[in-house]
Amino acid sequence: MAEDLIISISGLRGVVGSGLTGEVAADYGRAFGAFLRNNRKEGRLCVCVGRDSRPSGRTLQGSLSEGLCSAGIDVIDLGIVPTPGAGIMVKERGCAGGGVVTASHNPARYNGIKLLLGNSMAPSAKAAARIRELFDKKEFAKVESCEQGKVGSNGQTETVHTAKVLAIVDREAVASRKFKAALDSVNGAGGRVTKKLLADLGCEVVAINDEPTGIFAHAPEPTAQNVTALCDVVREQKADIGFAQDPDGDRLAIVDENGVYIGEEYSLALAAKYVFSRQSGRAATNLSTSRMVDDIAAGAGGSVIRTPVGEANVAAAMLEHNCIIGGEGNGGVIDLRVSPIRDSLVAIALVLQLLAETGKTVSELVNEIPRYYMIKDKFSADKSTAQQIVSTAKEQFAEAKVDISDGCRFDFADGWVHLRSSNTEPVMRVIAEAKEESTARKYVSEVLSLCEAIMD
Ligand code: MG
Repeated sequence: MAEDLIISISGLRGVVGSGLTGEVAADYGRAFGAFLRNNRKEGRLCVCVGRDSRPSGRTLQGSLSEGLCSAGIDVIDLGIVPTPGAGIMVKERGCAGGGVVTASHNPARYNGIKLLLGNSMAPSAKAAARIRELFDKKEFAKVESCEQGKVGSNGQTETVHTAKVLAIVDREAVASRKFKAALDSVNGAGGRVTKKLLADLGCEVVAINDEPTGIFAHAPEPTAQNVTALCDVVREQKADIGFAQDPDGDRLAIVDENGVYIGEEYSLALAAKYVFSRQSGRAATNLSTSRMVDDIAAGAGGSVIRTPVGEANVAAAMLEHNCIIGGEGNGGVIDLRVSPIRDSLVAIALVLQLLAETGKTVSELVNEIPRYYMIKDKFSADKSTAQQIVSTAKEQFAEAKVDISDGCRFDFADGWVHLRSSNTEPVMRVIAEAKEESTARKYVSEVLSLCEAIMD
């Protein structure tokens, strides 16, 4: 089955025990090792390796490490850490790269491997394609037994990560407010380090699902239907805010003081609202993310750079254009002062700072941001059908501003619609956003009618 093992730009993901075995993880380590060795032939190389809390993580991490060692790469075992923590340690320890055993927000039967390069960023499309080629062709660099890599360990990720995040906010100002924060870490990798961050920020923390057992208390994606227990806790405990993380701690969703889930798009919007309240500049986000961030940037005389979907694309644009904030609408916030990786701890710190400085509640801050309606849909379409749909849509939406850097996005005065083929399945996604719900629905239904006409 195709879903048993999927290799994409963001790494490898598969069903544990069928598509994803120890052998696959070891080969992926060998391929990554060969890639790193080809880029730097001299001297010893080191890679930080960590994992989220899934029960299969320990053995898969062992296999990944074994593969890296067989290519003559030393490994630093970070243990259970969020993906952004691993990224920070790659730089901190001067490593050539990093590997995180995680299937992120995907269901428990999956696990996967995310790779990071020496700059803490996910590989570019070109680098990812090369790693995949080495993996598929099994072009592995084998070294003599005396040259094999060694495995050491490092338990400092939590300390280093929280220190870096605390450095971007005014700890005293936040702590003086004595916020009560509820936290749902879905028994992933984020619980311990996030409780430490919140405690360092002077918060009273009410945590659920904070043990890293990997036995997810609910479906792990931090969407509205999955975090109802957190909403209840916020209401019952009269918390100021609720935070929901995904299992590897790079995505964040927020619940307001009334126990209302506000949606993942608001994680980046609120973080941007704080950053732009202090300075003007540029933000970067992908083509499928809400216009809220454009309104916030414009209010401060700033602007937004749009990129193809994918963390590496957003981070690359942020570095190129010296952006003051960035991320993706799925709750992934990036602040380059911490690292070029989506980081739920960064989002938490920036939003708490916003609450502290304004003295406003989460719902009041949300109400200050112009509201949009976003509708997401998807339908079956192979590559050639998808191309036909895009070219017909270009005729249909001739008056729109068009961006074709990732699928096709049409921008209108009152909204936008983005058509994008999935990298991993014969599916086309359509995302529309407008001030009026009926307008967003109209854009989606126009695309669906185009699709039906072409399929007939
Ligand atoms: Mg994730």
